[in-house]
Order: sequence, then structure tokens, then C-alpha cells
Amino acid sequence: MTEEHSFYMESLPEGSRIEQLCNELKKFLTSDIENLQRFLLKLFETCYCFVFENHQPLFSPKIEINLIYQTKLYEKKVKENSAKIKEPAKDKSFAFYLANNAKGTIFINVEKLLFLLDKSYSTFILNLVMTYFHEILHCCYLNLRTEKEIFSIECLLVEKFLGINLPEEWRQLQSKHLHKHARA
Ligand SMILES: [Zn+2]
Repeated sequence: MTEEHSFYMESLPEGSRIEQLCNELKKFLTSDIENLQRFLLKLFETCYCFVFENHQPLFSPKIEINLIYQTKLYEKKVKENSAKIKEPAKDKSFAFYLANNAKGTIFINVEKLLFLLDKSYSTFILNLVMTYFHEILHCCYLNLRTEKEIFSIECLLVEKFLGINLPEEWRQLQSKHLHKHARA
């Protein structure tokens, strides 16, 4: 997902998980970075469990998450691992993964995601959760599903998880740009 195709919601469904997460995030952003880190890690754990509770992927690898707070360091990681990364052109992305059927590692460019806060809290949360689900699904299917297939499973999970309906035009736009802007 690239910034120009990011998501905006005028109002959040009352009592939905996206609303709760936005409220939690507001609290953590005014405190220190450790709280933000805890929030990001806890949300990842919740997303990971949610995938297995709501979907039966092919593999169930243990997944480690690597939060990188500076784009420069993230790009360094991309370079170091470029031979092992399955999808092309990763340096402008939010995340990438390395995996076999027993273990996965997901690298997240937190700095780049944080820029989305300029748009709205919900834009940040949606992109973060989509990124999490996207990379988790890649780790659970390796190269046995196409980007489009991953994206459609991801949308179902995200809608159920956050308690929202993704606008159809947005979904089409994302899907059309999957190749040009591979997000993993
Ligand atoms: Zn992908």
C-alpha cells in the first residue's frame, strides 16, 4: 500500500475495534516510545491469533516481528536481504517478510507508517493492520497464493477484525495497483 492510495474514514463505527484502537493510540502517542512499541507488538499478536481463529491458512509458522523505527535502517535491511525477498522493489514499502513453512520474520517500517498519522488515526490503524495481515498471510502461504488472492483474504480479515466495511472503490484501486505497488 502506498500513501497516495491510503484510506480515510469520516467517522468510525461506534463501538468498533478501529474506534477502540484509535483511542488507545491517542493515549500512547502522548506518552513515551515504549508504550507505542508495546501497543504495536500487542496489536501484532492479536492480529496473528485472529488469522488462525478466523481462517485456516496452509502453514502455521511462528512469526517474529521486527519493528524498525527509521526508514534508513529499514532500507538497509531490505538491501541486506534483497536476495531472499520474494517480492520486488521493497525499499519504498511498509514491510517485507522472510519465511519458510516453520518460521517467518516480518520487518515493519514504523517511521513510514507513522507519517500516515498526518491523515488520521484511522488511516494509520487501517494501514498498520492491513500490513500485519498481509505479511502474516504471506508467511502462511509462502508463494502458493498470488498477491490478489492474499489481498482478498486480507480484506475479509481486516473488515471482520476492525468492524468496518472497506469502500468498494478503495478496494478496486488497491487491487489494481497490487502489481505496481507490491506492498510486502
Ligand atoms: Zn504481498
